[in-house]
Amino acid sequence: MRSKTLELACDLLSRPSVTPKDEGCQQLLESYLTAMGFTVEHHIINNVSNLFAIRGTQKPTLCFAGHTDVVPAGDLSSWRTPPFTPTIEKNKLYARGAADMKSSIAAMITACERFIQLYPEHPGSIAFLITSDEEGPALDGTQAILKILEARQQIPEWCLVGEPSSTVKLADTAKIGRRGSLTGYLKIIGKQGHVAYPQLALNPIHQAFIPLAEIAAITWDQGTEFFPPSSLQFANIQAGTGAANVIPGILETNFNLRFSPETTPEHIQATVEGILQKHGCEYHIDWILGGKPFYTAPDNDFIRKVATTIEKTLGYAPLLSTTGGTSDGRFFAQYGTQVIEVGPVNATIHQVNECIDIDELEQLSALYEAILVNLFVS
Ligand SMILES: [Zn+2]
Repeated sequence: MRSKTLELACDLLSRPSVTPKDEGCQQLLESYLTAMGFTVEHHIINNVSNLFAIRGTQKPTLCFAGHTDVVPAGDLSSWRTPPFTPTIEKNKLYARGAADMKSSIAAMITACERFIQLYPEHPGSIAFLITSDEEGPALDGTQAILKILEARQQIPEWCLVGEPSSTVKLADTAKIGRRGSLTGYLKIIGKQGHVAYPQLALNPIHQAFIPLAEIAAITWDQGTEFFPPSSLQFANIQAGTGAANVIPGILETNFNLRFSPETTPEHIQATVEGILQKHGCEYHIDWILGGKPFYTAPDNDFIRKVATTIEKTLGYAPLLSTTGGTSDGRFFAQYGTQVIEVGPVNATIHQVNECIDIDELEQLSALYEAILVNLFVS
């Protein structure tokens, strides 16, 4: 017989909720949450579906955070099973969103059901903030709802994000922060001409070689105990008309930095532009700051309680880390909320044949329940 967590996970996974679509996932969650006594609100902002639910009026509030949207399935012919038909094979559940992160949402819901049944009058409050815009621009999702909560003085003290934080086995890694993300969109401007008459042209490819190599070779910092060193990676570069006898007029490139708190966006921008200017490049650059670094100290009470619960429940202590891509945890952190991310193994996220181990799905629900107990009643 399928467990309640598996049933709910499959129900969510059968809905093709590619960003920003929700396909009824949050309505389904509402039915579970209202049955447990949560007050549920839906906020639809520019086609993005958001659900906020809360049970209790006391502080502190633990907010479970997650997203019902998924990235596109990608190459359908490479999937062994249809991506939106959840399929169990050899004790693994396959579907787009199985690890990132509909299984976590199912585990959060069933953990709350059992916890509330045992401790209906527990101190503190439990909340859910679920969006359908985590994998997209993330403007009308968590960020927008937190603004509403701030105006109502309902910012949660604690946030547990269910993103797939684990590497090899469940909760071997928990994320306590993230590096910042900064992207530069750079155009190096030359003058188009005939390759036989270079004196009448200005070749932006030649202009770019030395400064771009210099930028790529910068050591930004050494990182800190909980942050790897900052890193700049070029992601795209284009120039040329396709013809072999034309010097192009422009070179376009973009690069992204994942940076630690040891480096600031202002320092990065000044350094990059300083190199371009030093080499006499004519250029235009647009900077997009995806997020500043954030971090909840590991000796913080909330982080310690979650980490010790993991150790008690699973028999090993989690590695507390700040690696990986951005998550909505960054928006909570801006308001002073203490944030930890604990979720499934991330080996298959955003890939074809995304999956979660069924036993780990059940363990995850048990772990979330144990975290609730440790935070509110022990
Ligand atoms: Zn995710």
